[in-house]
Amino acid sequence: MAEKTKGQQLAEELMFTPKQAGMTLSQEEIDRAYDFCGDYMQFLNTAKTERLAAGRTVALLEAAGFVPFDRTHVYKAGDRVYLNNRGKAVIAAVIGRKPVAEGVRIVAAHIDAPRLDLKPNPLYEDSDLALLKTHYYGGIKKYQWAAIPLALHGVVIKRDGSQVEVSIGEEPGDPVFCVTDLLPHLAGEQMKRTLSAGIKGEELNILVGSMPFKDDQQSELVKLNILRILHEKYGMVEADFLSAELEAVPAYPVRDLGFDRSMIGGYAHDDRVCAYTALRAVLDVEAPLSTVITVLTDKEETGSDGNTGLNSAYLRYFIADLAEAEGVSARTVLSASKCLSADVNAAHDPTFPDVTDKRNAARLGYGVALMKYSGSRGKSGTSDASAEFTGEVCRLLDQAGVIWQQGELGKVDMGGGGTVALYVANLDVDVIDIGVPVLSMHAPFEVVSKLDVYMAYRAFRAFFEQK
Ligand code: MN
Ligand code: MN
Repeated sequence: MAEKTKGQQLAEELMFTPKQAGMTLSQEEIDRAYDFCGDYMQFLNTAKTERLAAGRTVALLEAAGFVPFDRTHVYKAGDRVYLNNRGKAVIAAVIGRKPVAEGVRIVAAHIDAPRLDLKPNPLYEDSDLALLKTHYYGGIKKYQWAAIPLALHGVVIKRDGSQVEVSIGEEPGDPVFCVTDLLPHLAGEQMKRTLSAGIKGEELNILVGSMPFKDDQQSELVKLNILRILHEKYGMVEADFLSAELEAVPAYPVRDLGFDRSMIGGYAHDDRVCAYTALRAVLDVEAPLSTVITVLTDKEETGSDGNTGLNSAYLRYFIADLAEAEGVSARTVLSASKCLSADVNAAHDPTFPDVTDKRNAARLGYGVALMKYSGSRGKSGTSDASAEFTGEVCRLLDQAGVIWQQGELGKVDMGGGGTVALYVANLDVDVIDIGVPVLSMHAPFEVVSKLDVYMAYRAFRAFFEQK
């Protein structure tokens, strides 16, 4: 091999060159990453909503020996506990060898994802078809949700207080549902609408039936027939829709994507990709020095408000309980704590290159992406990690051999967004955003790179195992 020139040597020493994970990793490690992603894909297929994700999470935790957290109990190093917040958010912790007064380590991800929620009075009949009115949840491009198969998941609380679970559209023999769209032949007027109004909010109506109940005396016979089926199957009546949370999500499973199978295409990588990797990190960590906490939260997509969102006190209460058990104040623990806000980032898309600053955008296949700040306009709505904490995390990732890149969420003034980082940072905790780059974020079919997914897991585990 020819000797390196002085310029080449100097460039190697001084220049920042992000590494493509596929160029750097051994075949062995690539195989491990693909295996890991097989588990992740299974998780996604059984965790289509925040409730299902929380339920699956609790099942995995219990199988690994985690027990429900008891705030009156004093735990010892190595103990594994979890807290189920109303079936929609979960905290899992492994007690460390150091006192919590020296700080805990938190990885926070969210398990809610954009979807179509049923309205409180959703079922109606029009032109001999039965439909459900919806109210979309989170930031969606509404036109993407028409003419795709939808499944329906959730719970109904009936007047007698009993609860029924609804889950229909995932099994091969199940029926599915859909929002209809206009045929191009008659869409002349619709095609003149802006893209954001291509399908309007009140046009996101889900088709659920067309067969009438046979009775000449009654009107709305198709709707009546649907109510008959719902009553037979779930014991519910129309008024029970009000005390229900029913969510329509894409009905198809996630798939390997690409001839090389290097990517995963499917619904709700945002943010179950960081939720699953953070969950696996807390499941796999052994005898950590600091107490480590994975929090899988709800309501991020609507601004983190509500008692299952991270703007509520449930994480603070959990840490306060840990502190109290060791005879210290919650603020002592929080002020010494560190957090990775684990959420997806926008990957540079060669088809739409104008929205990202190529020098600062995350790229698919370049590892987990660190994001110093998010927000909009002049960094509005971000916690902006300090240089000190950012430096500490970079050092940690380098030492652990994690392939990482940095990513900014789009060009200045192009738009922007937020994560849960600020809610944790506002508790006086050091926080930085880190996560997996995604193409087509918030679409019913999002794309991630398998190697990036694995690097997220490696990053969270290194953070939990830091000495
Ligand atoms: Mn997210
Ligand atoms: Mn999101």
